[in-house]
Amino acid sequence: MQRPTCKKCGGRNTFLDVPRFHPEQVSLGCVTCGWRLYGEEEIQAYVVQYNKRLEQEEAKIAAQQAEAKRLKALNLKRERDRMYWARTKEQRKRKKEQKREQVYIIPDMNTVFRAGEMDSILKVRWAEPLPNKEGEALSPCAWPPCEQRARANSKYCSRKCTVRVAHKRAQLRKKGELKESGDGLPIDVNSCAKDVVTTVARHI
Ligand SMILES: [Zn+2]
Ligand SMILES: [Zn+2]
Repeated sequence: MQRPTCKKCGGRNTFLDVPRFHPEQVSLGCVTCGWRLYGEEEIQAYVVQYNKRLEQEEAKIAAQQAEAKRLKALNLKRERDRMYWARTKEQRKRKKEQKREQVYIIPDMNTVFRAGEMDSILKVRWAEPLPNKEGEALSPCAWPPCEQRARANSKYCSRKCTVRVAHKRAQLRKKGELKESGDGLPIDVNSCAKDVVTTVARHI
């Protein structure tokens, strides 16, 4: 139990005055402002009330401190999260830019391209080719939207892509957008295009 502060001025300079020959005239006094409270019961009631208020205030302060701590931790976490995401975003952006700048080459066709670029002959965009498997150095598949690597003895990853190029060429030729020769396209397409298109047509 703490010595209560003065009821009048709130000062801490209080004292309990118990007269030697008249202990029943006990009083609680304040040195600072001269406030006095007489009577044992009154004093006890005041002390009880004072301590109760003190406990409530302490609990309130503790709660405020806990809340402040929680908010501080939350802000710190938010700030860390924000920085983490900003960094991740920055890294992703940089990776994307690096990819965009990467140049792919298909030596057999004298073709050089970047992912997302339009192929000037086939009028379709180049996909981002998948990386070569370890120990392999295969060219990208020559059908621009295909992300696979070509087979070792071919310009394409599969028969499907050979057909796709042939089909596209037939379409362009029909619209007059493709000259028959000197367009830099792989010879195997030129020679087999007609057969393949016929085959495709029969399947449709
Ligand atoms: Zn006082
Ligand atoms: Zn392919």
